[in-house]
Amino acid sequence: MRTQQIDPLINQAESELAAVFAGFEQTEALWTDRVLDAFVRHQVAARHFTPTTGYGYDDIARDTLEALCADIFRTEAAICRPHLASGTHTLAVGLFGLLLPGDELLVVTGSPYDTLEGVIGLHNEPGSLRELGVTTRIVDLDEAGAVDLPAVLSAMTERTKVVFLQRSRGYALRPSILPRDMEIIIKTVKQKNPDVFVMVDNCYGAFVTEDEPTFYGADLVAGSLIKNLGGGIAPTGGYLAGSARAIGLVENRLTAPGIGREVGSYEASYRPFYQGLFMAPHTVCQALKTAALAARVAELLGMEAKPGAFEVRSDIIQALVMGTPAKVVSYCQGIQAASPIDSFASPEPWDMPGYTDQVIMAAGAFVQGASIELSCDAPMRPPFAVYQQGALTYASGKRAVRAAFAKIMEIPDA
Ligand SMILES: *Cc1c(COP(=O)(O)O)cnc(C)c1O
Repeated sequence: MRTQQIDPLINQAESELAAVFAGFEQTEALWTDRVLDAFVRHQVAARHFTPTTGYGYDDIARDTLEALCADIFRTEAAICRPHLASGTHTLAVGLFGLLLPGDELLVVTGSPYDTLEGVIGLHNEPGSLRELGVTTRIVDLDEAGAVDLPAVLSAMTERTKVVFLQRSRGYALRPSILPRDMEIIIKTVKQKNPDVFVMVDNCYGAFVTEDEPTFYGADLVAGSLIKNLGGGIAPTGGYLAGSARAIGLVENRLTAPGIGREVGSYEASYRPFYQGLFMAPHTVCQALKTAALAARVAELLGMEAKPGAFEVRSDIIQALVMGTPAKVVSYCQGIQAASPIDSFASPEPWDMPGYTDQVIMAAGAFVQGASIELSCDAPMRPPFAVYQQGALTYASGKRAVRAAFAKIMEIPDA
């Protein structure tokens, strides 16, 4: 009976989304061309999968992966490697590389992602930027959800060293920022101070649009390899791509001054990083289709979806406003039950350290915590929205979305 209710909605959503899906596939084809052109230019071969030990001097696998990454982002240099433990670690290495005592970090897209609070030192964390003597100012987005350029310009001082943008909505209901909309911001802040670094948190954003922030002069982009750029294959790692000036500073923080990118061995094969990069345009497309499907089904059920099913996207996150705690829990449990790993587990809201409200998380991924694989989480507070992202294949994503909506339709008032 449940499937009788849900299947017509899935079918309707899917047929209404045909043009949207075709757009995602066009972007996939474009990035596939660019990625493969880079593989050809750098003559990627089986020798690039060979492990190294010890210092890892002249590790051709690591060096070539980083050259590919720079090529794809159209930057002078890149760091792309398993030694970066997470997205937060990658962003922290970038920030600590660029900022010195007395400098100011200007975040221009409102409150940054939760895990950056510790890096900035919002609560005076030991080892934070704040302890180092780096101050942070946050400029909120304007009413329309865009970067408030006049406010940014008046917040800039001679101490402003880094202007920081977060591309993705993260776990907030604000819109994501399109790379092409960053162009005017980058140009204008650099007009005011040509020495300022523009850094972009590119988590969840890579390969979603036809362009990247670096195409418009961003000095540094950073992201996680267990999100978009790892294609669902990379087992760990992060990337930073940017100007020689920016990467030159950041690489000294990555390892040690004077050593930089020259060290770092990896005894497991680099094959999953290359294969992941090859897969990434396709995997991102699968995630985008799954997100749009969930958005449209939610809309057909009278719920709000952010972004809307037909809106232009700049990241893979889909917020769905469920409206009640019961629906949040049911939706997440439906996603979990349809996951390949830990399908038997049933997530419940819990008091997660560092969060004020209870949080529920559904994730059943091959790579622990990978959110390019389908996952869904929600803080238990109004408006009771779930944040869903990822899917390695559209068919499995669709199956999970169907299961999750079927589960909320079981709730009496739904
Ligand atoms: C995921 C994410 C991060 C942090 O990455 P972790 O790998 O979870 O540490 C930072 N910023 C944004 C926008 C993210 O989506």
